[in-house]
Amino acid sequence: MSRDKNPLLDPKRHGPATQMVHGGGKRSPFNETSEAIFLNSGYSYPSSEHAELLFQNKLPGAHNYSRFANPTVDMFQDRMALIEGAEAGRAFASGMAAVTNAVMSQVRAGDHIVAAQALFGGCRYVVEDYAPRFGVESTLVDGRDPENFARAMRPNTKLVFIETPTNPTLELVDIKAVADIAHAHGAKLIVDNVFSTALYQKPLQLGADLVTYSATKHIDGQGRVLGGIVLGSKALIEGDIHTFLRQTGATLSAFNAWVLLKGLETYELRIRQMTDSAEKVAAALAGHPKVNRVIYPHHPSHPQYELAKRQMLRGSTLLSIDVGSQEAAFTLSDSLAVILISNNLGDAKSLITHPRTTTHARLTEDVRLETGVTPGLLRLSVGLESPDDLIADLLYGLDQV
Ligand SMILES: *Cc1c(COP(=O)(O)O)cnc(C)c1O
Repeated sequence: MSRDKNPLLDPKRHGPATQMVHGGGKRSPFNETSEAIFLNSGYSYPSSEHAELLFQNKLPGAHNYSRFANPTVDMFQDRMALIEGAEAGRAFASGMAAVTNAVMSQVRAGDHIVAAQALFGGCRYVVEDYAPRFGVESTLVDGRDPENFARAMRPNTKLVFIETPTNPTLELVDIKAVADIAHAHGAKLIVDNVFSTALYQKPLQLGADLVTYSATKHIDGQGRVLGGIVLGSKALIEGDIHTFLRQTGATLSAFNAWVLLKGLETYELRIRQMTDSAEKVAAALAGHPKVNRVIYPHHPSHPQYELAKRQMLRGSTLLSIDVGSQEAAFTLSDSLAVILISNNLGDAKSLITHPRTTTHARLTEDVRLETGVTPGLLRLSVGLESPDDLIADLLYGLDQV
């Protein structure tokens, strides 16, 4: 048998679609085809000496408690590490658990964080409200100009946190420029990569130290479970990140890890299709008399189009439009037949949300306008429906405005 010598056994040599079907897979002695769900909290050992070695960390890859290691969760982490080009990853119960862990495991009282001001609500809360309670100050800057990060850096800055493209205005942050600024000051860069997906933007290659995902979004992609993951170097992941997960316990359940593994099998196919459709929808709405502005990173009208072409392989499954007023935005949303009103994203179902009155309602109007959340802004997460149906739905809704 020559299978063992086949160089194509190395998953790093596979294309992304193959990696997402097979990567990280481990079979139990039953040789099941689909990945098994290990719904067990503990593990038993063949001998006391085995247990002793395990607790001395002398048996790499062995399991002793599912709070910090479980075979189904391992498979999910390994598959994600493969697509990200990361040395390692750790999964969490939600995207926010992943972000909180990534941030809080890197700082201590007296440190300082610099972050872009346009952040997902929960992420902004962790940096702006939560970290300062423990003596970690933060400065939020307009992320579109890297110079703003350079100006905000202090001798005690340990961390820079960004999201690009941002929610919901799809502004970009230049990952490479910000990574260089962070590193010049001895700080680490964390990138929340949800909006561009692991397929179409590679923050680690651009200099980021850690990448986070809400797996709830495109990775599940079918509106079923919550999950999150942090990816990076072996040193960071097996050190700070693993220790924080192990001791604070925001663990991803084996069942959810299994659902996410099934989601990843169709990840490449879904993201490609959804991105194709998002491009078509953006093109169809650009220039419509009732649409003041279409925001889509790979549309030539995007103010950072050059950067979008440089750092994003494709233009995201999300787009935003401004229809002028909250009344127009509500009328449009309320007239739709196929697209659902929901604040989730990355789903097989197309979803539309009015950020000002939902995801960004907690912020003051000043902060909202500062980050581009105008009364007429709608964010659209493009799903897997026929793109012609989505365009017809939106054109009908616009006719009602
Ligand atoms: C959804 C989301 C999160 C939080 O993830 P949850 O799984 O909902 O906890 C963080 N960042 C971004 C950009 C998101 O879209």
